[in-house]
Amino acid sequence: MAARGVNVSLPWLRTLWQNLVREQQQGTLAHAHCIPWQPDLGTAALVDEWIKLLLCTQSQKRACGQCKSCLLHQAGNHPDFYRLGSVDGKVISVDQVRELLAKLQQTPNQAGAKVVWLQDAEKLSVTAANALLKTLEEPTRATYFIVTPERTERLLPTLRSRMQLQRIPQPGAEEVAQWLAQRLQRVLTAEEQNYCQRYADRPLALLQWAESGDYPSDDLAELNESFTAGAALPALTKTNWQGWLLATEQWLQMLIRLQQNVAVTQLQLPQQRESVENWLRQHNYQVTELSSWLQLCYAIRQRTNEQSGLNGPLLLKELWMRWL
Ligand SMILES: [Zn+2]
Repeated sequence: MAARGVNVSLPWLRTLWQNLVREQQQGTLAHAHCIPWQPDLGTAALVDEWIKLLLCTQSQKRACGQCKSCLLHQAGNHPDFYRLGSVDGKVISVDQVRELLAKLQQTPNQAGAKVVWLQDAEKLSVTAANALLKTLEEPTRATYFIVTPERTERLLPTLRSRMQLQRIPQPGAEEVAQWLAQRLQRVLTAEEQNYCQRYADRPLALLQWAESGDYPSDDLAELNESFTAGAALPALTKTNWQGWLLATEQWLQMLIRLQQNVAVTQLQLPQQRESVENWLRQHNYQVTELSSWLQLCYAIRQRTNEQSGLNGPLLLKELWMRWL
């Protein structure tokens, strides 16, 4: 179930949603779609709203919510809506797929579309995936497949190539901050602004954290531990390194502020002040040096934005090695 007020009017969903609606109205909508499952970007809301729209017999830009088809779906027993997914993380078997395909052969009862929501598609066995291929290519009339894998790269290429990829575009930090302030109906704190920078790809998680006041473990604190207390360095991957780059920038900014004797209340890790100061003294790092490293961080960000094929995780790791 989508969270309160989370629907296709989320700003970063709008363009994708409008395209889907337009293609449906023009009769050019493909029959099979792959939407990578990204819960913190609102995939659930998008899929939910889209299934309703496809099933509705009076639909314009949104499902009407009043026709027989809409009422059946709301009651959870629309005969033309099928959901297939892994049970307890198990493989989706060829028998499950065959059973689904047999049901699809029957005429639609409600004169609307038939919609299949296939979850965890990466869990399809090879034979199950192969059994689906032909139907994806030549589906029965007005039948739509919405496939939402958690690991899109694990789908068989033959399966992937038969679907239209509908990727939710990742919003920018600025857009996320604006949206979050609007949702919370107040100005964001400096810390919340920081979180928007670090987690722009997870806006719904940000909203949940801000509403509950319960934030996840802090990258900045973890990085600080690695350098000043000899804890293991975080493992950098293609998907997480930009978050760590940001944490590195914040950490260097904090060190610079410490060297400039900024008041404790303005520091991000006030409890660690003493250990960090000891570490700085030990290595005799001065503001000029710290600033030049901060410039290196900005340069890494800029270069990896401008040139594809650069190894961001490696560049950041090399920078970290200077401080061990
Ligand atoms: Zn309707």
